[in-house]
Amino acid sequence: MSVNKNIFKNKTFLIVVSFLLVMVLAAGIFGMEYSSAVSEAEDKINSLNSQNNALISENNALSSKNAENESKIANHKKELDDLNSKIKDLESEVSHIKLTKAQLNSSKKNQGSVTPSTNEKIDMSLLTAPNEGYKVCYLTFDDGPSDNTLKILDILKKANAKASFFVVGTSKLDYIKRAHAEGHTIALHANNHDYGKIYKSEAAYFDDLTKLSNKVKNLIGVESKIIRFPGGSSNTTSKSHNKGIMTRLTKQVQQKGFVYVDWNVDSNDATGNNVPKSKILNSIKSSSKGRGDICVLMHDTAAKKTTVEALPEMICYLRGQGYRFEPLTMDSAVFHHGVNN
Ligand SMILES: [Zn+2]
Repeated sequence: MSVNKNIFKNKTFLIVVSFLLVMVLAAGIFGMEYSSAVSEAEDKINSLNSQNNALISENNALSSKNAENESKIANHKKELDDLNSKIKDLESEVSHIKLTKAQLNSSKKNQGSVTPSTNEKIDMSLLTAPNEGYKVCYLTFDDGPSDNTLKILDILKKANAKASFFVVGTSKLDYIKRAHAEGHTIALHANNHDYGKIYKSEAAYFDDLTKLSNKVKNLIGVESKIIRFPGGSSNTTSKSHNKGIMTRLTKQVQQKGFVYVDWNVDSNDATGNNVPKSKILNSIKSSSKGRGDICVLMHDTAAKKTTVEALPEMICYLRGQGYRFEPLTMDSAVFHHGVNN
């Protein structure tokens, strides 16, 4: 029994020793593998770190280049702005020189003449010149639209010029769609150009204006807040219909957000039908002389054929005087007559 017991003890001992040996071996192998994995991972980390550092330094280099480019762009922009402002100065100088030359020529030609401006030669090549000039001319047409409006639009297009139309409720009112699309201002005059009706009372005036305003808005999709009183704010015809109505209306329209525009240059095309072209041009020349910005009164009813005929020469003459042609806006210079009723 004791022999068997020893054998058993020896066997157990051997198993334990073998097991321990196996464990030691496994630990050795695992340890080796572990340390090689660790060093491999460390290598990878180092390589990634060095890649990262390379990228960071590349990024820094790009950033500094970017900043350099941005400052170059800013410098170029400044140079460009300087050049543009120099060009503007030169252009205005050229316009001044042209004006002085035109005035000199005109005064030389017209010395001793009773009607000084009539003989001035107009440079027709200015019709298609760029719309530049150091002074602003607002060409305005009242009482249309009519078929003449289409001819006026053709001339304005050729002349690179913009204008404003103070419309009435005519059957050709839809012509304003083209005028609006071509960049001209559509402004309100009267739905019914009848002094006796619109100047009867403030309520009658605003009732008529609202009717026209709605028609215009339906056609062009925008509400016009620029108006011109029939006869202008200085008219005295309204006195016989309602004393003091112009004093009240000029205040009330502004309270309601409208801007009213009179004129400071009259073409006198309303002094009769088909006023001779030469008379229209002379009116423009004499009443614009020595002025800064101007607002020119004309009419584009069907009867005003000579206004259409005079327009190209009028544009060339005024261009020669340093004018550019712009549409009226809510912020345009104020052209107000004195109120006389
Ligand atoms: Zn009118």
